[in-house]
Amino acid sequence: MKTVFVVGAGPAGLFAAQKIALSGHQVFLFNRDIKPGGLAEYGIYPLKDKMKFGLRKQFAKVLGLPNVQYFGHVKVGEQGDLTLADLRAMQPSAMVFACGAQGYNALGLPGEDSRGVYSAKDFVYAYNRLPPYASMDFSTGKRIAIVGMGNVAADIMRWLLRDDPERQTEEVIVVARRGPYEAKFDKKEIEHVEEYISRDGFLRELDRIRETCGACNQDLSPEKLGDATFPFLKKSFPAEPRPKLTFRFLSSPKEILAGPDGRIDKLVVTENNLALRADGSTAARATDRNAVLDVDTLIFAIGDKHDPSVGLPMGPDGYATKPVPESMKEPAYEAWNLETNESLHGIFVVGWARRASTGLVGIARHDGEEGAKKVLEYLQDQPDTGTPSAENLLAALQAKGATPVTKQDLEILGRIEEQQAQARNLTSFKFSDDETMLHAIQNEREALSVQ
Ligand SMILES: Cc1cc2nc3c(=O)[nH]c(=O)nc-3n(C[C@H](O)[C@H](O)[C@H](O)COP(=O)(O)OP(=O)(O)OC[C@H]3O[C@@H](n4cnc5c(N)ncnc54)[C@H](O)[C@@H]3O)c2cc1C
Repeated sequence: MKTVFVVGAGPAGLFAAQKIALSGHQVFLFNRDIKPGGLAEYGIYPLKDKMKFGLRKQFAKVLGLPNVQYFGHVKVGEQGDLTLADLRAMQPSAMVFACGAQGYNALGLPGEDSRGVYSAKDFVYAYNRLPPYASMDFSTGKRIAIVGMGNVAADIMRWLLRDDPERQTEEVIVVARRGPYEAKFDKKEIEHVEEYISRDGFLRELDRIRETCGACNQDLSPEKLGDATFPFLKKSFPAEPRPKLTFRFLSSPKEILAGPDGRIDKLVVTENNLALRADGSTAARATDRNAVLDVDTLIFAIGDKHDPSVGLPMGPDGYATKPVPESMKEPAYEAWNLETNESLHGIFVVGWARRASTGLVGIARHDGEEGAKKVLEYLQDQPDTGTPSAENLLAALQAKGATPVTKQDLEILGRIEEQQAQARNLTSFKFSDDETMLHAIQNEREALSVQ
C-alpha cells in the first residue's frame, strides 16, 4: 500500500481518489472548501437538484472508502495552510492536483473596480452559497449586462430572470463580441430563458448587424438562426416579455463608468466588425464606433484561469503537463516544468486544473480516472515509504494552525443542515460561512462526546 495525496475534492479529484483507493492505496484528500464537490456543488445551477443529489451520493461513496481520508478547509499554496513543499516533506509516493481553475479572466477595463461589477464565477459561487462569497455583496439592480455567451452566462440569465428570490431585474442585456452564430450555450440551457427574449428587440438587433454578418456569409434569417443557435425564433412567445432579455452583438466592453455612489452606471462598448478566417471561423475586429449602455450591474463570463499561488509550474491551458506530440491522442498528466523541460516526478494534474472550462462533470470524472491510471502505473516502480496515520496528519495540520474538517465532521454537518432545512421547510439548506459551519460541527462533537 502506498500513499497518494490528492489536492482538490471536486469531481476530478474524487474520482481519481476512488480509482487509486480501489487499487489498494491510501489516499489523503486536501480540499480548500469545507464540503467536497467543487463546482459540482458550488457551480452547477442550484435548481438542478436531481443532478446535485446524484453527484453528492457518488461523492459520499468515495469518501466512505476506508482507505480515503478527507481534510476539508485546507488550502494548499503559498498563502494556504500547506505549501507544496510541506506536502512533499510528508513524502507521499505520488500527488494528484485536482484543484480546478480558481481564477478568472478579467475584463481589464477602466472602472472595473466599480460596485456592481462581478466575475461570473464569484457570482455563481455566491448564489450556490460557497463561503466567503455567500456572505459578500453581489447585489443586482434593474438593468444587468452579462458579457459572454456560454453556458455559465446562460445560467446567470436564468438566475436573474427567473429564480433569484431578491431579483429586481427589468432587463438583462447580453453583450457579445461576435454575432448570434457564435453563441456557445447549449440549446437546452438557453431554453430556460427563451420566453424572456424580446423578439422585437432581437429582430431589430439582427437588422443592425445584418450587413456585417452577411459579409462573412452568415444568413441571419430566423429560420437559419433558429436551427443553429436561437430556437426561440421558430417558436411563439410574447413579443415583449417582462423582465426581458436582449442581446447586443458585435460589441466589446471598453469602459465602465460609475455614478456618484461608486456603482456602475454605464457600460461603453466598442462596436466590432466580423472577419472571416481562412478556416471558416470568425474574429471580432474593433471599429472606432462606440455605444453606451445604461446598466447598474455587470457580470462577465469570459473564461477561467489557474491560481499560480498553488506552486505548480504554469502552462498555456493550466498547470503545465508534459508536452505530447499532436499526433498522440492521449494527454499527459505528469506535471512539467516548461523552463527546465523536466517532469515533476510523482506529481500529476487532472480535471480543470489541467485544462480549464473543458466541459461537464462527466469529462472531469473521465480526466480524473485517466490521470489516476497514470498514477497507478507510476506507483508500480515506487518504493513503499510507509503510510502516515490519519490522526498524525490531522495533528500535524492542527499544529500548523489549520482547522481541518474530516469525513466524520462532514456527516455531522450534513445532519445539522438537514435539521435546518426541515426547520425552515426547505428541500435543502447550506450555511453561508465557514465559521458557522465549524462552530456547528464543534458544538455537535462536544455534545456527542458527553453522551
Ligand atoms: C457555473 C458552472 C455551471 C456548471 N454546470 C454544469 C452542469 O450543469 N452540468 C455539468 O455536468 N457540469 C457543469 N459544470 C462543469 C463542472 O462543474 C466541472 O466540469 C467540474 O466541476 C470540474 O471538476 P474539477 O474537479 O476539475 O474542478 P472543481 O469542480 O473546480 O473542483 C476543484 C476543487 O479543488 C478545491 N481547491 C481549489 N483550490 C485549492 C487549493 N489551493 N487547495 C486545496 N483545494 C483546492 C476546491 O475547493 C474544489 O473542491 C459547470 C461549471 C460551472 C463553472
